[in-house]
Amino acid sequence: MSFFALNDDHRAIAEMAQNFAREKIAPHALDWDERKHFPVDVLREAAALGMAAIYTSEDIGGSALSRLDAALIFEALARGCPTIAAYLSIHNMSTWMIDRFGDESQRAKWGPSLSRMDLLASYCLTEPAAGSDAAAIKMKARRDGDCYVLNGVKQFISGAGASDIYVIIARTSDDGARGMTAFVVEKDAPGLSFGANERKMGWNAQPTRQVICDDCRIPAANRLGEEGHGFKIAMAGLDGGRLNIAACSLGGAAEALDKAVAYMAERQAFNKKLNTFQALQFRLADMAIDLEASRSFLWRAASALDAKTPDATALCAMAKKFVTDACFTIANDALQLHGGYGYLADYGVEKIVRDLRVHQILEGSNEIMRLIVARRLIEEK
Ligand SMILES: Cc1cc2nc3c(=O)[nH]c(=O)nc-3n(C[C@H](O)[C@H](O)[C@H](O)COP(=O)(O)OP(=O)(O)OC[C@H]3O[C@@H](n4cnc5c(N)ncnc54)[C@H](O)[C@@H]3O)c2cc1C
Repeated sequence: MSFFALNDDHRAIAEMAQNFAREKIAPHALDWDERKHFPVDVLREAAALGMAAIYTSEDIGGSALSRLDAALIFEALARGCPTIAAYLSIHNMSTWMIDRFGDESQRAKWGPSLSRMDLLASYCLTEPAAGSDAAAIKMKARRDGDCYVLNGVKQFISGAGASDIYVIIARTSDDGARGMTAFVVEKDAPGLSFGANERKMGWNAQPTRQVICDDCRIPAANRLGEEGHGFKIAMAGLDGGRLNIAACSLGGAAEALDKAVAYMAERQAFNKKLNTFQALQFRLADMAIDLEASRSFLWRAASALDAKTPDATALCAMAKKFVTDACFTIANDALQLHGGYGYLADYGVEKIVRDLRVHQILEGSNEIMRLIVARRLIEEK
Protein backbone atom coordinates (compact mmCIF):
# COMPACT_ATOMS: atom_id res chain seq x y z
CA MET A 1 0.00 0.00 0.00
CA SER A 2 1.26 3.43 -0.86
CA PHE A 3 0.87 5.97 1.93
CA PHE A 4 -0.15 8.52 -0.61
CA ALA A 5 -2.86 6.84 -2.64
CA LEU A 6 -5.91 4.97 -1.48
CA ASN A 7 -6.98 1.90 -3.44
CA ASP A 8 -10.53 1.19 -4.66
CA ASP A 9 -11.39 -0.79 -1.51
CA HIS A 10 -10.33 2.09 0.74
CA ARG A 11 -12.37 4.53 -1.31
CA ALA A 12 -15.44 2.29 -1.21
CA ILE A 13 -15.21 1.95 2.58
CA ALA A 14 -14.80 5.70 3.04
CA GLU A 15 -17.74 6.39 0.72
CA MET A 16 -19.98 3.96 2.62
CA ALA A 17 -19.18 5.75 5.90
CA GLN A 18 -19.59 9.20 4.29
CA ASN A 19 -23.04 8.27 2.98
CA PHE A 20 -24.05 6.93 6.38
CA ALA A 21 -22.83 10.07 8.13
CA ARG A 22 -24.61 12.34 5.66
CA GLU A 23 -27.94 10.49 5.77
CA LYS A 24 -28.19 9.10 9.28
CA ILE A 25 -26.06 11.29 11.52
CA ALA A 26 -25.54 14.84 10.24
CA PRO A 27 -29.22 15.85 10.03
CA HIS A 28 -29.70 15.05 13.74
CA ALA A 29 -26.36 16.00 15.27
CA LEU A 30 -27.37 19.43 16.63
CA ASP A 31 -30.61 18.07 18.07
CA TRP A 32 -28.87 15.13 19.77
CA ASP A 33 -26.31 17.52 21.24
CA GLU A 34 -28.99 19.86 22.55
CA ARG A 35 -31.15 17.07 24.01
CA LYS A 36 -28.16 15.02 25.21
CA HIS A 37 -29.64 12.10 23.28
CA PHE A 38 -27.54 8.94 22.79
CA PRO A 39 -28.87 7.42 19.53
CA VAL A 40 -28.39 3.69 20.13
CA ASP A 41 -30.69 2.82 17.20
CA VAL A 42 -28.42 4.72 14.78
CA LEU A 43 -25.31 3.11 16.30
CA ARG A 44 -26.88 -0.31 15.59
CA GLU A 45 -27.46 0.72 11.98
CA ALA A 46 -23.77 1.59 11.77
CA ALA A 47 -22.98 -1.82 13.27
CA ALA A 48 -25.07 -3.53 10.56
CA LEU A 49 -22.65 -1.99 8.05
CA GLY A 50 -19.64 -3.41 9.92
CA MET A 51 -18.59 -0.23 11.73
CA ALA A 52 -18.84 -1.55 15.32
CA ALA A 53 -16.09 -4.14 14.92
CA ILE A 54 -13.98 -2.66 12.15
CA TYR A 55 -10.65 -4.34 12.94
CA THR A 56 -12.08 -7.32 14.81
CA SER A 57 -11.87 -10.91 13.49
CA GLU A 58 -14.47 -12.19 11.07
CA ASP A 59 -15.20 -15.39 13.04
CA ILE A 60 -16.94 -13.29 15.72
CA GLY A 61 -18.72 -11.03 13.26
CA GLY A 62 -16.01 -8.39 12.84
CA SER A 63 -15.07 -6.70 9.57
CA ALA A 64 -11.35 -7.66 9.79
CA LEU A 65 -10.34 -4.37 8.20
CA SER A 66 -7.13 -2.44 8.77
CA ARG A 67 -6.36 0.50 11.07
CA LEU A 68 -6.11 2.65 7.96
CA ASP A 69 -9.66 1.61 7.03
CA ALA A 70 -10.73 2.55 10.56
CA ALA A 71 -9.12 5.99 10.20
CA LEU A 72 -11.06 6.54 6.97
CA ILE A 73 -14.31 5.42 8.58
CA PHE A 74 -13.96 7.57 11.71
CA GLU A 75 -13.02 10.63 9.70
CA ALA A 76 -16.12 10.14 7.57
CA LEU A 77 -18.45 9.50 10.53
CA ALA A 78 -17.09 12.50 12.43
CA ARG A 79 -18.11 14.76 9.57
CA GLY A 80 -21.64 13.94 10.67
CA CYS A 81 -20.93 14.19 14.41
CA PRO A 82 -17.58 13.79 16.22
CA THR A 83 -19.34 12.62 19.39
CA ILE A 84 -21.13 9.70 17.75
CA ALA A 85 -17.98 8.71 15.85
CA ALA A 86 -16.00 8.88 19.11
CA TYR A 87 -18.37 6.59 21.01
CA LEU A 88 -18.19 4.10 18.13
CA SER A 89 -14.41 4.34 18.35
CA ILE A 90 -14.46 3.42 22.05
CA HIS A 91 -16.86 0.54 21.37
CA ASN A 92 -14.53 -0.67 18.60
CA MET A 93 -11.53 -0.45 20.92
CA SER A 94 -13.23 -2.47 23.69
CA THR A 95 -14.54 -5.06 21.22
CA TRP A 96 -11.06 -5.48 19.74
CA MET A 97 -9.59 -5.98 23.24
CA ILE A 98 -12.00 -8.88 23.87
CA ASP A 99 -11.23 -10.34 20.44
CA ARG A 100 -7.47 -9.95 20.84
CA PHE A 101 -6.98 -10.90 24.50
CA GLY A 102 -10.07 -13.01 25.26
CA ASP A 103 -10.09 -16.81 25.27
CA GLU A 104 -12.27 -18.74 22.85
CA SER A 105 -15.30 -18.87 25.16
CA GLN A 106 -15.10 -15.13 25.90
CA ARG A 107 -14.79 -14.29 22.22
CA ALA A 108 -17.75 -16.55 21.39
CA LYS A 109 -19.85 -15.26 24.31
CA TRP A 110 -19.53 -11.51 23.66
CA GLY A 111 -17.92 -11.01 20.24
CA PRO A 112 -20.91 -11.50 17.90
CA SER A 113 -23.28 -9.40 20.06
CA LEU A 114 -20.66 -6.62 20.31
CA SER A 115 -20.09 -6.72 16.55
CA ARG A 116 -23.84 -6.26 15.97
CA MET A 117 -24.02 -3.75 18.82
CA ASP A 118 -26.74 -5.78 20.48
CA LEU A 119 -24.31 -5.18 23.33
CA LEU A 120 -22.54 -1.82 23.76
CA ALA A 121 -19.09 -1.60 25.35
CA SER A 122 -17.18 0.87 27.51
CA TYR A 123 -13.49 1.11 28.38
CA CYS A 124 -12.76 1.76 32.06
CA LEU A 125 -9.25 2.79 33.07
CA THR A 126 -9.38 6.33 34.57
CA GLU A 127 -10.14 6.79 38.27
CA PRO A 128 -10.86 9.93 40.30
CA ALA A 129 -7.26 10.01 41.57
CA ALA A 130 -5.53 8.36 38.60
CA GLY A 131 -5.88 9.74 35.06
CA SER A 132 -2.59 10.45 33.31
CA ASP A 133 -0.76 8.16 35.73
CA ALA A 134 -2.75 5.07 34.81
CA ALA A 135 -0.41 2.76 36.74
CA ALA A 136 -1.62 4.46 39.96
CA ILE A 137 -5.17 3.03 39.78
CA LYS A 138 -6.60 1.77 43.05
CA MET A 139 -9.66 -0.29 42.10
CA LYS A 140 -9.09 -3.69 43.71
CA ALA A 141 -10.01 -7.09 42.32
CA ARG A 142 -9.82 -9.85 44.93
CA ARG A 143 -10.09 -13.53 43.97
CA ASP A 144 -12.79 -15.36 45.92
CA GLY A 145 -13.21 -18.98 44.78
CA ASP A 146 -14.74 -18.97 41.30
CA CYS A 147 -15.26 -15.22 41.40
CA TYR A 148 -13.44 -11.90 41.59
CA VAL A 149 -14.78 -9.17 43.85
CA LEU A 150 -14.16 -5.62 42.57
CA ASN A 151 -14.11 -2.49 44.74
CA GLY A 152 -13.43 1.06 43.57
CA VAL A 153 -14.56 3.81 41.23
CA LYS A 154 -13.85 4.51 37.56
CA GLN A 155 -14.17 8.13 36.46
CA PHE A 156 -15.30 9.75 33.16
CA ILE A 157 -16.47 6.51 31.54
CA SER A 158 -17.89 7.10 28.07
CA GLY A 159 -21.15 5.27 27.48
CA ALA A 160 -21.46 4.27 31.15
CA GLY A 161 -24.99 3.45 32.20
CA ALA A 162 -26.00 2.81 28.58
CA SER A 163 -23.31 0.22 27.81
CA ASP A 164 -23.79 -3.48 28.56
CA ILE A 165 -20.14 -4.54 28.76
CA TYR A 166 -17.40 -2.80 30.79
CA VAL A 167 -13.78 -3.66 30.11
CA ILE A 168 -12.37 -2.72 33.52
CA ILE A 169 -8.72 -2.54 34.52
CA ALA A 170 -8.30 -3.26 38.24
CA ARG A 171 -5.53 -4.06 40.67
CA THR A 172 -4.87 -7.69 41.64
CA SER A 173 -1.61 -6.87 43.44
CA ASP A 174 0.28 -3.81 44.67
CA ASP A 175 3.01 -4.27 42.09
CA GLY A 176 2.48 -1.02 40.10
CA ALA A 177 1.73 -1.55 36.41
CA ARG A 178 2.53 -5.26 36.81
CA GLY A 179 -0.26 -5.63 39.38
CA MET A 180 -3.07 -4.70 37.00
CA THR A 181 -5.57 -7.10 35.41
CA ALA A 182 -8.34 -6.68 32.82
CA PHE A 183 -11.91 -7.89 33.41
CA VAL A 184 -15.17 -7.94 31.52
CA VAL A 185 -17.99 -6.79 33.78
CA GLU A 186 -21.57 -7.16 32.61
CA LYS A 187 -24.12 -4.44 33.28
CA ASP A 188 -26.24 -6.56 35.64
CA ALA A 189 -23.30 -7.72 37.82
CA PRO A 190 -24.24 -7.45 41.51
CA GLY A 191 -22.54 -4.45 43.12
CA LEU A 192 -22.15 -2.47 39.86
CA SER A 193 -23.72 1.00 39.70
CA PHE A 194 -23.26 4.29 37.88
CA GLY A 195 -22.86 7.95 38.81
CA ALA A 196 -24.90 10.84 37.41
CA ASN A 197 -24.47 11.77 33.75
CA GLU A 198 -21.75 14.47 33.81
CA ARG A 199 -22.61 17.94 32.47
CA LYS A 200 -19.98 18.62 29.82
CA MET A 201 -18.68 21.25 27.38
CA GLY A 202 -19.19 18.90 24.41
CA TRP A 203 -19.66 15.21 23.62
CA ASN A 204 -23.25 15.70 24.76
CA ALA A 205 -24.72 12.99 22.56
CA GLN A 206 -23.07 10.28 24.65
CA PRO A 207 -23.22 9.82 28.42
CA THR A 208 -20.17 10.09 30.70
CA ARG A 209 -20.56 8.61 34.17
CA GLN A 210 -18.64 7.09 37.02
CA VAL A 211 -18.64 3.28 37.14
CA ILE A 212 -18.85 2.19 40.76
CA CYS A 213 -17.91 -1.29 41.98
CA ASP A 214 -19.07 -1.99 45.52
CA ASP A 215 -18.27 -5.63 46.27
CA CYS A 216 -19.04 -6.22 42.59
CA ARG A 217 -18.92 -9.99 42.09
CA ILE A 218 -18.06 -11.38 38.66
CA PRO A 219 -17.18 -14.91 37.50
CA ALA A 220 -13.44 -15.61 37.43
CA ALA A 221 -14.09 -16.66 33.81
CA ASN A 222 -14.56 -12.94 33.01
CA ARG A 223 -10.86 -12.20 33.53
CA LEU A 224 -9.38 -11.02 30.24
CA GLY A 225 -5.86 -12.40 29.82
CA GLU A 226 -3.56 -13.31 32.66
CA GLU A 227 -3.39 -11.66 36.07
CA GLY A 228 -0.83 -8.84 35.84
CA HIS A 229 -1.33 -8.27 32.08
CA GLY A 230 -3.98 -5.55 32.47
CA PHE A 231 -1.71 -2.56 31.87
CA LYS A 232 -0.34 -4.05 28.67
CA ILE A 233 -3.86 -4.85 27.46
CA ALA A 234 -5.11 -1.35 28.34
CA MET A 235 -2.22 0.30 26.48
CA ALA A 236 -2.59 -1.96 23.44
CA GLY A 237 -6.21 -0.85 23.15
CA LEU A 238 -5.17 2.78 23.35
CA ASP A 239 -2.71 2.61 20.43
CA GLY A 240 -5.62 2.13 18.04
CA GLY A 241 -7.97 4.23 20.17
CA ARG A 242 -5.66 7.22 19.79
CA LEU A 243 -5.68 6.91 16.01
CA ASN A 244 -9.48 6.68 16.02
CA ILE A 245 -9.87 9.76 18.20
CA ALA A 246 -7.45 11.64 15.95
CA ALA A 247 -9.56 10.56 12.96
CA CYS A 248 -12.64 11.94 14.73
CA SER A 249 -10.83 15.29 15.07
CA LEU A 250 -9.91 15.16 11.39
CA GLY A 251 -13.52 14.65 10.32
CA GLY A 252 -14.74 17.46 12.56
CA ALA A 253 -12.08 19.86 11.26
CA ALA A 254 -12.74 18.93 7.62
CA GLU A 255 -16.42 19.68 8.12
CA ALA A 256 -15.67 22.99 9.86
CA LEU A 257 -13.34 24.01 7.02
CA ASP A 258 -16.00 23.22 4.40
CA LYS A 259 -18.51 25.30 6.35
CA ALA A 260 -16.07 28.22 6.47
CA VAL A 261 -15.38 28.04 2.72
CA ALA A 262 -19.11 28.01 1.94
CA TYR A 263 -19.88 30.81 4.37
CA MET A 264 -17.12 33.05 3.04
CA ALA A 265 -18.45 32.68 -0.50
CA GLU A 266 -21.75 34.23 0.66
CA ARG A 267 -20.97 36.68 3.42
CA GLN A 268 -20.06 40.27 2.55
CA ALA A 269 -18.14 42.90 4.50
CA PHE A 270 -16.96 46.25 3.18
CA ASN A 271 -18.98 45.49 0.00
CA LYS A 272 -16.81 42.48 -0.78
CA LYS A 273 -17.23 38.75 -0.31
CA LEU A 274 -15.19 37.51 2.66
CA ASN A 275 -13.36 35.10 0.38
CA THR A 276 -11.85 37.99 -1.60
CA PHE A 277 -9.78 39.26 1.36
CA GLN A 278 -6.30 37.85 0.94
CA ALA A 279 -5.65 37.67 4.67
CA LEU A 280 -8.67 35.36 4.97
CA GLN A 281 -7.69 33.38 1.87
CA PHE A 282 -4.31 32.72 3.49
CA ARG A 283 -6.06 31.63 6.67
CA LEU A 284 -8.11 29.12 4.63
CA ALA A 285 -4.96 27.91 2.89
CA ASP A 286 -3.20 27.37 6.23
CA MET A 287 -6.20 25.43 7.51
CA ALA A 288 -6.21 23.21 4.41
CA ILE A 289 -2.45 22.62 4.71
CA ASP A 290 -2.74 21.65 8.40
CA LEU A 291 -5.68 19.39 7.63
CA GLU A 292 -3.78 17.55 4.91
CA ALA A 293 -0.65 17.27 7.08
CA SER A 294 -2.85 15.77 9.83
CA ARG A 295 -4.42 13.29 7.43
CA SER A 296 -1.07 12.18 6.02
CA PHE A 297 0.40 11.73 9.51
CA LEU A 298 -2.63 9.78 10.69
CA TRP A 299 -2.46 7.42 7.71
CA ARG A 300 1.27 6.93 8.30
CA ALA A 301 0.70 6.00 11.96
CA ALA A 302 -2.24 3.73 11.07
CA SER A 303 -0.09 1.94 8.49
CA ALA A 304 2.66 1.48 11.10
CA LEU A 305 0.16 -0.06 13.53
CA ASP A 306 -1.15 -2.34 10.76
CA ALA A 307 2.44 -3.43 10.02
CA LYS A 308 3.18 -3.74 13.80
CA THR A 309 6.42 -1.82 13.37
CA PRO A 310 8.50 -1.21 16.54
CA ASP A 311 7.81 2.52 16.37
CA ALA A 312 4.03 2.10 16.03
CA THR A 313 3.19 3.13 19.63
CA ALA A 314 5.33 6.27 19.37
CA LEU A 315 3.85 7.14 15.98
CA CYS A 316 0.30 6.69 17.32
CA ALA A 317 1.14 9.04 20.22
CA MET A 318 2.74 11.58 17.86
CA ALA A 319 -0.20 11.48 15.46
CA LYS A 320 -2.75 11.76 18.28
CA LYS A 321 -1.04 14.85 19.63
CA PHE A 322 -0.41 16.49 16.27
CA VAL A 323 -3.78 15.79 14.70
CA THR A 324 -5.99 16.63 17.70
CA ASP A 325 -4.12 19.91 18.32
CA ALA A 326 -4.07 20.96 14.65
CA CYS A 327 -7.70 20.01 14.06
CA PHE A 328 -8.93 21.84 17.16
CA THR A 329 -7.21 24.97 15.85
CA ILE A 330 -8.73 24.50 12.38
CA ALA A 331 -12.23 24.18 13.87
CA ASN A 332 -11.68 27.22 16.10
CA ASP A 333 -10.40 29.23 13.10
CA ALA A 334 -13.51 28.19 11.14
CA LEU A 335 -15.60 29.58 13.98
CA GLN A 336 -13.66 32.86 13.84
CA LEU A 337 -14.21 33.12 10.08
CA HIS A 338 -17.98 32.93 10.69
CA GLY A 339 -17.79 36.02 12.92
CA GLY A 340 -20.62 36.22 15.44
CA TYR A 341 -22.60 33.60 13.53
CA GLY A 342 -19.93 31.03 14.33
CA TYR A 343 -20.86 31.42 17.97
CA LEU A 344 -24.49 30.50 17.27
CA ALA A 345 -25.52 26.86 17.58
CA ASP A 346 -27.49 26.81 14.29
CA TYR A 347 -24.34 27.19 12.18
CA GLY A 348 -22.92 23.95 13.59
CA VAL A 349 -19.33 25.13 14.03
CA GLU A 350 -19.35 25.88 17.76
CA LYS A 351 -20.49 22.29 18.40
CA ILE A 352 -17.52 20.95 16.45
CA VAL A 353 -15.17 23.15 18.51
CA ARG A 354 -16.75 21.96 21.77
CA ASP A 355 -16.62 18.31 20.67
CA LEU A 356 -13.01 18.41 19.46
CA ARG A 357 -11.65 20.09 22.58
CA VAL A 358 -11.79 16.93 24.67
CA HIS A 359 -9.78 14.94 22.13
CA GLN A 360 -6.72 16.87 23.36
CA ILE A 361 -7.38 15.55 26.88
CA LEU A 362 -8.59 11.96 26.68
CA GLU A 363 -7.10 8.63 25.55
CA GLY A 364 -3.95 10.06 27.12
CA SER A 365 -3.66 13.85 27.24
CA ASN A 366 -1.46 15.58 24.67
CA GLU A 367 1.11 16.22 27.42
CA ILE A 368 1.26 12.46 28.01
CA MET A 369 1.66 11.90 24.24
CA ARG A 370 4.76 14.10 24.43
CA LEU A 371 5.95 12.09 27.42
CA ILE A 372 5.71 8.84 25.39
CA VAL A 373 7.60 10.39 22.46
CA ALA A 374 10.28 11.96 24.67
CA ARG A 375 10.87 8.74 26.64
CA ARG A 376 11.45 6.85 23.42
CA LEU A 377 13.83 9.51 22.12
CA ILE A 378 15.85 9.53 25.34
CA GLU A 379 15.89 5.74 25.73
CA GLU A 380 17.13 5.32 22.14
CA LYS A 381 20.16 7.53 22.77
C1 LIG B 1 -15.56 13.44 28.21
C2 LIG B 1 -14.52 12.48 28.69
C3 LIG B 1 -14.63 11.13 28.37
C4 LIG B 1 -13.69 10.22 28.84
N1 LIG B 1 -13.85 8.88 28.57
C5 LIG B 1 -13.06 7.98 29.18
C6 LIG B 1 -13.30 6.57 29.07
O1 LIG B 1 -14.24 6.16 28.36
N2 LIG B 1 -12.52 5.71 29.75
C7 LIG B 1 -11.50 6.12 30.53
O2 LIG B 1 -10.83 5.28 31.12
N3 LIG B 1 -11.21 7.44 30.68
C8 LIG B 1 -11.98 8.37 30.02
N4 LIG B 1 -11.73 9.72 30.16
C9 LIG B 1 -10.64 10.15 31.05
C10 LIG B 1 -9.44 10.76 30.33
O3 LIG B 1 -8.72 9.78 29.67
C11 LIG B 1 -8.63 11.51 31.40
O4 LIG B 1 -9.37 12.68 31.74
C12 LIG B 1 -7.23 11.87 30.92
O5 LIG B 1 -6.44 10.72 30.80
C13 LIG B 1 -6.52 12.87 31.87
O6 LIG B 1 -6.59 12.43 33.19
P1 LIG B 1 -7.09 13.44 34.34
O7 LIG B 1 -8.36 14.05 33.88
O8 LIG B 1 -7.10 12.70 35.62
O9 LIG B 1 -6.01 14.59 34.37
P2 LIG B 1 -4.64 14.61 35.25
O10 LIG B 1 -3.94 13.31 35.10
O11 LIG B 1 -4.99 15.05 36.61
O12 LIG B 1 -3.83 15.74 34.51
C14 LIG B 1 -4.08 17.13 34.68
C15 LIG B 1 -3.18 17.89 33.72
O13 LIG B 1 -1.82 17.64 34.04
C16 LIG B 1 -1.15 17.11 32.91
N5 LIG B 1 -0.15 16.13 33.35
C17 LIG B 1 -0.35 15.08 34.20
N6 LIG B 1 0.80 14.41 34.39
C18 LIG B 1 1.75 15.02 33.64
C19 LIG B 1 3.14 14.81 33.41
N7 LIG B 1 3.80 13.78 33.97
N8 LIG B 1 3.81 15.66 32.59
C20 LIG B 1 3.15 16.69 32.01
N9 LIG B 1 1.83 16.94 32.18
C21 LIG B 1 1.14 16.12 32.98
C22 LIG B 1 -2.23 16.48 32.05
O14 LIG B 1 -1.87 16.39 30.69
C23 LIG B 1 -3.37 17.47 32.28
O15 LIG B 1 -3.21 18.57 31.41
C24 LIG B 1 -12.60 10.66 29.64
C25 LIG B 1 -12.49 12.04 29.94
C26 LIG B 1 -13.43 12.93 29.48
C27 LIG B 1 -13.29 14.39 29.83
